[in-house]
Amino acid sequence: MVFKCRNCGGNVVYEPSRQSMYCPHCESLDSEDAVQGGSPTQCAVCGAPMEVQAYASSSRCEHCGSYVVFNERVEGTYEPRWILPFRLNKDGAVKEMEKEFGRRIFAPRDFMSTKSLAKMVGVYVPFWLYDYKARYDFVGEGTKVRSWQSGNTEYVETSYYEVIRQMDVAFDKVPVDASYAMEDGIMDLMEPYDYQVFQDFEPKYMSGFYGEIYNQGAQELEERAQTKARSASEQLLQESVQGYSSVRPVRKDLNLQREGVSYALMPVWQYLYRYRNKTYAFHVNGQTGKVVGTTPVSRGKVAAYGASVFAAVVLIFHLAFGILEIL
Ligand SMILES: [Zn+2]
Ligand SMILES: [Zn+2]
Repeated sequence: MVFKCRNCGGNVVYEPSRQSMYCPHCESLDSEDAVQGGSPTQCAVCGAPMEVQAYASSSRCEHCGSYVVFNERVEGTYEPRWILPFRLNKDGAVKEMEKEFGRRIFAPRDFMSTKSLAKMVGVYVPFWLYDYKARYDFVGEGTKVRSWQSGNTEYVETSYYEVIRQMDVAFDKVPVDASYAMEDGIMDLMEPYDYQVFQDFEPKYMSGFYGEIYNQGAQELEERAQTKARSASEQLLQESVQGYSSVRPVRKDLNLQREGVSYALMPVWQYLYRYRNKTYAFHVNGQTGKVVGTTPVSRGKVAAYGASVFAAVVLIFHLAFGILEIL
């Protein structure tokens, strides 16, 4: 499918800065007609043969420059439930890169040159989004240690507490990328996205960008989502047991129940820069402008995925017993 301008016949694309369809040839807004046709091997506009990546769902014809969305890869089992349309256009993404790297990075002269940046492309990356209900039952032994000196004697008092937590946490749309080409660690660092602006999927948002279908199924990738939900639950628990010198777990029971899963496309600007036979990958979140470079890949702080603690049902602080030790 291609989007053609009613006024001039040109290829209409989704323009993030205007948040609407835009014809770069005659500057019309929302003048598109969806024209069916085309395949991953042949351009729907000029008929030239196309060579696309194995998982491509939309691509640009090298011959005429049109963006083509491949129907059979956005329909049926491949139809995304959601799409986060690009909010940053290419200029916006470049500005974010300049802000982040300025002139300080290794900065070969052509790192941010127009010619090099021509290789920067906007990609809709396939993601699975998992919803969970988590129930976390925790029992632990907490201590509070107090010490003081009197004369030549040092006193240490250790108080023991029974720490009980029962948390119900709802996770909404824990994201896991389903693209072999995109490195998992980098995609994780692209988070967070603003889920408020999810749109029902429509192919028009893909015009002007590259797109991929999911490379792996939701079942196959679920472990990564569970790991994220578990570590976010753990973080919430840790935040709720502050104030002790130590907390030794006696019983931990974290139960995750999957409530749903949906398929979505997320916007990423990708810039692969070749320098001295090495490729440096830079990614900009097409929605928020967050920039991630190849190095350093540090694991980001655990995101909370809009996690909400529904009910901290029981929060009990039992003072079990205290011991006074004299050393
Ligand atoms: Zn036009
Ligand atoms: Zn073409």
